[in-house]
This record gives sequence, structure tokens and C-alpha cells, in this order.
Amino acid sequence: MIAFTKTRLKSHPMKQLVLASSNPGKLREFGEMFAPLGIEIIPQSKLGIPDAEEPHGTFVENALAKARHAAKLSGLPAMADDSGICVRALGGEPGVHSARFAGEPKSDERNNRKLLDLLRDKEERRAHYYCVIVLMRHGDDPEPLIAEGAWQGRIIDTPRGANGFGYDPYFLLPDFDKTAAELEPSQKNLASHRGKALRRLLAKLKEGV
Ligand code: IMP
Repeated sequence: MIAFTKTRLKSHPMKQLVLASSNPGKLREFGEMFAPLGIEIIPQSKLGIPDAEEPHGTFVENALAKARHAAKLSGLPAMADDSGICVRALGGEPGVHSARFAGEPKSDERNNRKLLDLLRDKEERRAHYYCVIVLMRHGDDPEPLIAEGAWQGRIIDTPRGANGFGYDPYFLLPDFDKTAAELEPSQKNLASHRGKALRRLLAKLKEGV
């Protein structure tokens, strides 16, 4: 097993990794986590690679599609994440539709208003953020690395905090008695769905899984 692991890592010496996202926050976060491994993160936009379609009904299928697209067009290893918020009382919606829950053009403000309208008079407020990250060593990699993370919270009616983005001002974390938008970025990275998924992916990469 160890011999196999070493061989596999040796045959894929990764110095650069394309990130299938142009979000500056994600680029910084991923860049910081991969720097100690000697891996440079390159945003796909820098290579002229357009965003891939995200037509699928599951997060993992969308992340696979984005990572495969970036790996094929760049000829380099590529990584993509897909995330969203799943609300109990709405049967898991908005889920993969989180970014455009209230339609085009995407708007956090309209998404949040729609969410609160749907939850009006509902006592069940449990929700979780979910994130999956996929790393493909090349465009036809039959064994991509896949890591997930979830973050449990509740949806509140009155926004709190100015950090973060998306649904964060309405996403209350019982453990902190703060919304995700009231946490410092470093606190959020430690606790969040994306932070958990990223640390799990790094652990797999280091193990050569
Ligand atoms: P994407 O994975 O960057 O496409 O994000 C999908 C959507 O899910 C975002 O546009 C947000 O609406 C929501 N989302 C995902 N992660 C977070 C988060 O950490 N805070 C707030 N909203 C999030």
C-alpha cells in the first residue's frame, strides 16, 4: 500500500494546480492552504478558461464537471468546489440552486428575501451549508480526490454582521451565538463547510489517497 502511494505521488508531481473559480476570496484561501505543499494555485481565468456549465442536480457532479473542464483545457491538474445552503423546511432547497435561488442575475439580496419569504411562519429553521471539493490530476483522471464538509446552523429573520457573503448574515451558529457574517474570516475558515472540505482534501493529498 505504501509503495503504491509513493509511486502514485511520484508519477504526479504537482507544482501547479488550476482553480476552476475566479472568486478572489476562494483563490486566497486555497492559495494559503496549498503554499506549504509547494503547490501554486492558478485561477482558470488567468489561463483564459471560461466557466463551465453547472447543470447537475448534485454538488459533486457539478464540481466534477468544473474540475474536468479546467483540467482538460489547461493540461494541468485542476480543482473545483461546489457549495450551497440546504434548508430542512424546504426539503433541502436551495441546495445546488443557492447562487441563483431568486433567478438571474444572481443577487444575494433577492436570494435572502426569497428564503425568508418561504420560511415565514415556519418554526423549523435548521439548515446547513455544504461544500464538496474535487481534484483531478488530469482531464481523464479515473480516481479524482473528493472531500466534503458541512456546517450546521439556523436561519434567522433579522440579518447580523457585515463579513462573509451570500446567506451568511441570516445563518446563525448556535455554538458561537453569532451569524457566519459576524465571524472573523479566520474563524469562519476554521469552522466552515469549505474549510473542513479543504482540510480533508489536503489530508488525502498528503496521504497519497
Ligand atoms: P459556489 O459554490 O461558489 O457556486 O456558491 C454557491 C452559492 O452558495 C453561493 O453563491 C452562495 O449563495 C451560497 N454559499 C456557499 N457557501 C457560502 C458561504 O460560505 N456563505 C454564504 N453563502 C454561501
